[in-house]
Amino acid sequence: MSGLTVSAKQAAPVLTGIDTSLRMTRLISNAEGSVFMKMEHEGVPFFLSTANSLVDLDSSITTHQFDLREHFLSAVPIIMYVRWAFPESSCKQLECSACLIIDDPPLKVSYGFLNLRKLSDVALRHNFSASIAFIPWNWSRSTRKVIDLFKQYPKRLSLSVHGCDHTTSEFGTRDKSTLVRKVKKAISRMQSHEEKNGLPYDRIMVFPQGVFSENALQVLKEQNFVAAVNTSVRSTDPEPRKITLASCWDVALMDYGDFPLLTRRYPSEGIENFAFDILLGKPCLVVIHHDFCRDNYAHLTKFIDQLNGLPCTLSWRSLGEVVRRSFRQRTLPSGTIAVEMYGGELRLSNTFSATQNFSIRRRERDSNAVKEVVSDSGIVDWSHADGYITFSLELNPKESALIRITYRETVSPAPEDETALYRLKTAARRHLCEARDNYLQPALNVLGVLR
Ligand SMILES: [Zn+2]
Repeated sequence: MSGLTVSAKQAAPVLTGIDTSLRMTRLISNAEGSVFMKMEHEGVPFFLSTANSLVDLDSSITTHQFDLREHFLSAVPIIMYVRWAFPESSCKQLECSACLIIDDPPLKVSYGFLNLRKLSDVALRHNFSASIAFIPWNWSRSTRKVIDLFKQYPKRLSLSVHGCDHTTSEFGTRDKSTLVRKVKKAISRMQSHEEKNGLPYDRIMVFPQGVFSENALQVLKEQNFVAAVNTSVRSTDPEPRKITLASCWDVALMDYGDFPLLTRRYPSEGIENFAFDILLGKPCLVVIHHDFCRDNYAHLTKFIDQLNGLPCTLSWRSLGEVVRRSFRQRTLPSGTIAVEMYGGELRLSNTFSATQNFSIRRRERDSNAVKEVVSDSGIVDWSHADGYITFSLELNPKESALIRITYRETVSPAPEDETALYRLKTAARRHLCEARDNYLQPALNVLGVLR
């Protein structure tokens, strides 16, 4: 958070005229004085916040996700203090992984304001990675030039799954067998795309329009998706589950059937929200649509430069690698490293010069749901207790391993019932959306209507 200027919506009295013998360090200040500071009295450091409240970790999220601008003075001081006071015992993430997610474009050179050749060029020059949230319906429409571009820059450009047909609320339904049919169809299309073009994809669902039901996440888990990514943490069920601030501040939200839901944000949510996510140990996931690339990528590069200018090193990766590397770890007194993984896959490395033991756990209340745990060297023995599955791994110096948890399928797909009219409507919708993005929005931009 260091160096940021934030428009906080909460007010707090400022402290002035403090005894200079208290060796004060200003941590959060405004034009009038300090609202959070560290002081020292007879060698004992203490912290003082003038905010009149602290965040309640058990309170419910009532908006789409936590917005730091609404709670800056009640949230930041306590987190800064905890990170300072418990540097060893608190779990940490090893690095800050980041990825830019661009929703909707088919793999054609140009789509609206987005030119994928230019994007790869900008990604190299400004140091970022992009995952195209790819609509499986487009699986047979990719052009060779763009496929070659993705193969040339696999660390900069990758693919994730964006719905199936991208029709309204397609993952908002609560009917599990319909959801299974949708998810299987999405996978089948993505696999056909991979076989046709030799281009792999990340088995991560990015929900169209941000709409999902709790059952949709349950089905994605059974279909062995690694995670889902969304702008909102609240499902669109008639009576959505209560989501607490504590759950929202975790690396991934695990409340929906112990399946990881990672949050992403629009640049309009402010650099301070991204910085706070990173401070909490969450990955830095940015979402844009093609229109954010207008004005020759000026808005995008300005924002990416701001992110890369934060006082931490962002590791830009494919969305799949971001999820695999989003875990917390701490060293136990025995020397074993305790790891909490969130995604269905984990990339673990032994960076030490000696053989290292890892004790890994993942939240899973239903042990019957788990089919197996597999690492590079084969099936791993696991046990279940207190709502977690746990297993151990030993890695030689500089060795790394990919661990995957797979789940049993319990729901059969609903029979195919797509009518010719549905298929026609879906195709019309996609082509109309593309016409809007390719012609209408650029025209509006020329007229100065887009800001
Ligand atoms: Zn979309």
